[in-house]
Amino acid sequence: MTETISTVVLDLDDTLIASTRARRRAYQSLREQGIDPRAAEAANTRWWERYHAGDCSLEQMRQGRWIELGLSPEEAIRIDERYRAHYENIRARLGARRLLERLRESNLNVVLLSNAGIEYVRDRVAALRVEHLLNGVVDVTATRWKPHPEAFQTALALVGESPARAAMVGDNLDADVNGALAAGFRHVVWLTRRKPHTDARVACLPSLAATEAHLLALAGQNSAIHAPTPECTSPA
Ligand SMILES: [Mg+2]
Repeated sequence: MTETISTVVLDLDDTLIASTRARRRAYQSLREQGIDPRAAEAANTRWWERYHAGDCSLEQMRQGRWIELGLSPEEAIRIDERYRAHYENIRARLGARRLLERLRESNLNVVLLSNAGIEYVRDRVAALRVEHLLNGVVDVTATRWKPHPEAFQTALALVGESPARAAMVGDNLDADVNGALAAGFRHVVWLTRRKPHTDARVACLPSLAATEAHLLALAGQNSAIHAPTPECTSPA
């Protein structure tokens, strides 16, 4: 009999909250300022990579991603504030609150591990009103970014857990899924509708409802582990 899990580590963006949807709307709204949404998104990705590599500060990243598009430093500050106002419009993904409530009812430890800044993470947690359902929130600036194993070890240390009795849940293949596998997690949920994963420790699930059933089964709370999606069983 496989050991049951007692801790779940969760990603935030596009796992518990629908961040990409809100971000794309924010980019579209900047069109009237003469900013191309696709160019802005590409610049944002590049500057986040620089920030995660330690090549710039958060403030430099926030200005640089707009200056790169041709804005003056003053315009960059103004546009970035306008862009970041979309954070208030980010909504919970369907089933997010219920998932956290069920995990808490089942006496599982729940830790949030996001590569976003701790201020952003705490604000989103407060907006969701789920602080009481979490055992810990990792300040990733005090450790290493996912997919570095140290990020996952920090999350587990908050609740004194071993990776053998923990499950990771996230949408990002590199940061969440492969990162958790490298850190020794025995169970990983990859929130995805399309792509297979060849590692048997990874369950590819399309929704938080399916994730909830899967995690509760892993915790020994439910007899039926969610069946893998067909894509998962027959990798292309
Ligand atoms: Mg994510």
